[in-house]
Amino acid sequence: MDKHEALRQFFGYSSFRPGQEELIDAILAGRDVLGVMPTGGGKSLCYQIPALLLPGVTLVISPLISLMKDQVAALNREGVAAAYLNSSLSPTQQRLVCQRALQGAYRLLYVAPERLESPEFTAVARRLAVPLAAVDEAHCISQWGQDFRPSYLAIAAFLRELPRRPVTAAFTATATTQVQADILRLLELREPVRQVTGFDRPNLFFDVQAPKNKPQALLALLQERQGQSGIVYCATRDGVEKVCARLCKQGFPATRYHAGLPDQERQQNQEAFQFDRRPVMVATNAFGMGIDKSNVSFVIHYNMPKSLEAYYQEAGRAGRDGEPADCILLYSKQDVVTARFLIQNSGNSQLTPQQQAQVRRQDYARLQAMVDYCRSGSCLRGQLLDYFGQAHPQRCGSCGNCLRQAAQEDAPGGLAQAPEEDITVPAQMILSCLWRIHKKLGYDVGRMLLVQVLRGRQRQRVLELGLNELSTFGLMRRLSHNQVSELVEELVRQGYLRDHPLYSALALTPAASRVLFQGERVSRRTPLEPEKAVAPERLQGGRTRTAGPAGREGLFEALKATRTQLAQAEQIPRYLVFSNATLADMAAKAPHTPEELLAVNGVGRVKAQKYGRAFLEAIAAYEQGAAPQEVPQGREGRP
Ligand code: ADP
Ligand code: ZN
Repeated sequence: MDKHEALRQFFGYSSFRPGQEELIDAILAGRDVLGVMPTGGGKSLCYQIPALLLPGVTLVISPLISLMKDQVAALNREGVAAAYLNSSLSPTQQRLVCQRALQGAYRLLYVAPERLESPEFTAVARRLAVPLAAVDEAHCISQWGQDFRPSYLAIAAFLRELPRRPVTAAFTATATTQVQADILRLLELREPVRQVTGFDRPNLFFDVQAPKNKPQALLALLQERQGQSGIVYCATRDGVEKVCARLCKQGFPATRYHAGLPDQERQQNQEAFQFDRRPVMVATNAFGMGIDKSNVSFVIHYNMPKSLEAYYQEAGRAGRDGEPADCILLYSKQDVVTARFLIQNSGNSQLTPQQQAQVRRQDYARLQAMVDYCRSGSCLRGQLLDYFGQAHPQRCGSCGNCLRQAAQEDAPGGLAQAPEEDITVPAQMILSCLWRIHKKLGYDVGRMLLVQVLRGRQRQRVLELGLNELSTFGLMRRLSHNQVSELVEELVRQGYLRDHPLYSALALTPAASRVLFQGERVSRRTPLEPEKAVAPERLQGGRTRTAGPAGREGLFEALKATRTQLAQAEQIPRYLVFSNATLADMAAKAPHTPEELLAVNGVGRVKAQKYGRAFLEAIAAYEQGAAPQEVPQGREGRP
């Protein structure tokens, strides 16, 4: 087997991402490497593929228990023998893992850095053939980094003491030159091949907003993203508690995570998020280092983080499946005050006062770069790439600042040249509200009631019918009665809604399900509000995620339904079956045979065996017209 076959067979991908192949080749040629790639850039594959090709067992040194568990679970699902060794296992289980490792049962063994200091483990490791040691999150070795872990300092000595020092591969998403220098020196990398790539994440949309009323702004952002999964980062535990409580009170499926919660609750909440039982996570920066959830479609920072590294790492947890995703930072001056306070009161007891002072100076410098990002009007993506030393065009054309600038240029006089206005999001709100009303009552209702529900009016009839319990209740409370009515009329005009021939009731047409489930966009000529006509549509948020390839939307939905069934049967998160990107490719290629299925991006051998039949059958059924196309029925995604 060669690296291409391994990529295909085990991971189901047909090509490497920038930087991956160079790093893999170097490792296979016996060179140490340092790979600097952003979160989600695909670092794991850079050591997993060599691990599959080299004899012996690759040691992966990884800082977080949850990270190991997820990675090992994912590898096992791809048919790769891997295990982890950490304190979450009982002593008996740990002995068993060691025994099996010695028998050569694993291609990869994940361990926490602390483990390397245990004499028992050292004794085992000396008897293993270890061709490669991969150090994940290698920046933890640097005292100047944000996540210094003293146990990382013992890695180099441990590797040196093995009978044959393994090829050492370090990976990080933190690219500052000082941290890189520390990694090279403290891990004792020998003439390493260095790769810094992939910092641009074209599928991420960046924006900074400075709303007067943050709580309200957050609610609006979340309302536009109902049914999607996302993370809301707050600077403090207290902030997490407040924001989470507020969101839950408003009916959002939110959960929380911060270091002040008991271990058990943290774990429960993390799982609720990971399995989409609670798709909105409100958390401090304690959350996320080990999270590998690919369908996160937004990361909202309720407060400004303390550095651009931290920001990019946290924001980078969005869109790991390659789908469009939003990274929005809600900035206020108070955030700067808080950040200064946190820096002033941070301390690391392992540092001398002198070192502490130096760390603080650096923290302030990092904070300044972060503040500049929030206040500048230039391309946000460009500023981020600058920070990581990657070249980029002057304007990306797809961040908040670029869009605002383009809008200003397009419409120097403001309203006069307002182009067609995109009203997809309000249209989705209206249509899904009517659909939910119908589902609840079993019949259609008239305009008046619909508008009252959308605007969250507690009218007698609304309460009698229990319509205030709908998740769409109050979705458009910020709009006037007239504005909502006008939108409803527009949808009637465009054929998404129709009047009942006998009663005064509105019904959804088949066209409505294209908007609700297949990503069809809706626009109109007359602007909603004068000032909004100038603002680019994109800034109003709530973009639709992949609707599937053009013309294949129905099949895409059918495949998603199949995935939901499989995931539910196994009680695993949906993305562990296949990502949206994989399903989109599957819908485009519409394979009929197991071989054709293997040509779909993201379908590996093991998963093809496991799930192939279900998907091939779904495709066949769809093509015979058996798949329901029109009436939306509790499928995943919106609304
Ligand atoms: P990192 O460790 O750098 O944060 P991961 O290794 O977890 O990132 O990879 C992020 C995602 O990208 C994973 O879902 C992974 O399967 C996917 N991926 C990695 N390499 C490729 C590739 N060559 N083609 C397509 N997808 C890839
Ligand atoms: Zn830009």
